[in-house]
Amino acid sequence: MRIEELKTPCYVIDEGKLEENLKILKRVKDNTGCSILLAQKAFSCYAEYPLIGRYIDGTTASGLYEARLGKEEMGLENHVFSPAYREADVKELVKLCDHMVFNSFSQLEKYKDCLTGTSVGIRINPECSTQEDHAIYDPCAPGSRLGVTAEHFKEEWLPYLSGLHFHTLCEQNSDDLKKTLDAVEEKFGTYLKELSWLNMGGGHHITRPDYDIELLETCIRHMQETYGLHIYLEPGEAVALNAGYLVTEVLDVVENGIHTLILDASAACHMPDVLEMPYRPPLKDSGEPGEKPYTYRLSSCTCLAGDVIGDYSFDREMKPGDKLYFMDMAIYSMVKNNTFNGMPLPSIAIMDKNGDCRVVKEFGYEDFKNRLS
Ligand SMILES: *Cc1c(COP(=O)(O)O)cnc(C)c1O
Repeated sequence: MRIEELKTPCYVIDEGKLEENLKILKRVKDNTGCSILLAQKAFSCYAEYPLIGRYIDGTTASGLYEARLGKEEMGLENHVFSPAYREADVKELVKLCDHMVFNSFSQLEKYKDCLTGTSVGIRINPECSTQEDHAIYDPCAPGSRLGVTAEHFKEEWLPYLSGLHFHTLCEQNSDDLKKTLDAVEEKFGTYLKELSWLNMGGGHHITRPDYDIELLETCIRHMQETYGLHIYLEPGEAVALNAGYLVTEVLDVVENGIHTLILDASAACHMPDVLEMPYRPPLKDSGEPGEKPYTYRLSSCTCLAGDVIGDYSFDREMKPGDKLYFMDMAIYSMVKNNTFNGMPLPSIAIMDKNGDCRVVKEFGYEDFKNRLS
């Protein structure tokens, strides 16, 4: 089946593009000896886990469910970090995970006696904000709950720890990683000498064309050589960046001073980051408002007046039945889906390198109903 023939709404994973990203990540691994894990919270489309597992080292999870998924579907190295763990979950997590990262010494104290068989780390907060654009994604902001600051670090726990973890970047280049590492070394350098690994989290936009991979590799080597550490990276976005589409159909055109296309996809339900981040998703064959002759506001069937994806222009007049292709829709999209207003969940298809598509998952009324009681 070709992409034009898919029933809408539908996410389409572009396997060729995914594999290109994976090859870039594999090269970083090969050049440096670091390990790279998929942060499943960005992309958990496990139909692709066998492919991903051929290039990188495994998975990382935000809790029990993702940890199980990683173990069951990729079955390679499996890590977990959560701001706090529930007791029942810890018992399962120690069996599923090679690394468990804690967010506080109180959590470590609580669980220290049941952590046999897993390598234990603590998340640090280097208090080094490197971005202003997305304040809700800055774990270094004053008062942050994420990670232990140097002031609150308890040296007496070092014998229980094998590594440190930080995650402070979001869609950033390696110059910001370098700045962050300078802060990590200044504040935590004496501890690093006693540990065996450092996990540098996600937010590394490694597969973006302007990303400075050479500087990333220099940073990795510096930490390896100075402290004798094994380095982990756990990107989410970079794994599936630009590797998916959301295909939607125009259902109606509404006129009220502005021409609005009513789509069968929704920002609120199917691409919530568009409203949360916020950002304007790239759309195939479109321009900025006014750039091409026909400008429309793109919206959906929900009751939310602000369920607006953005304003776009086109070469021709748009009509019901036309299909639109949102791009970069593999990451932080299907993992955040909801059925607000009873909106149907988009199906999931995989497009191979030749452009042939196969549907791997379809949803229906039961998927909506089953979650509600
Ligand atoms: C979100 C997150 C990641 C992945 O971040 P990306 O921006 O998708 O690369 C990795 N590690 C932790 C702890 C995270 O919270």
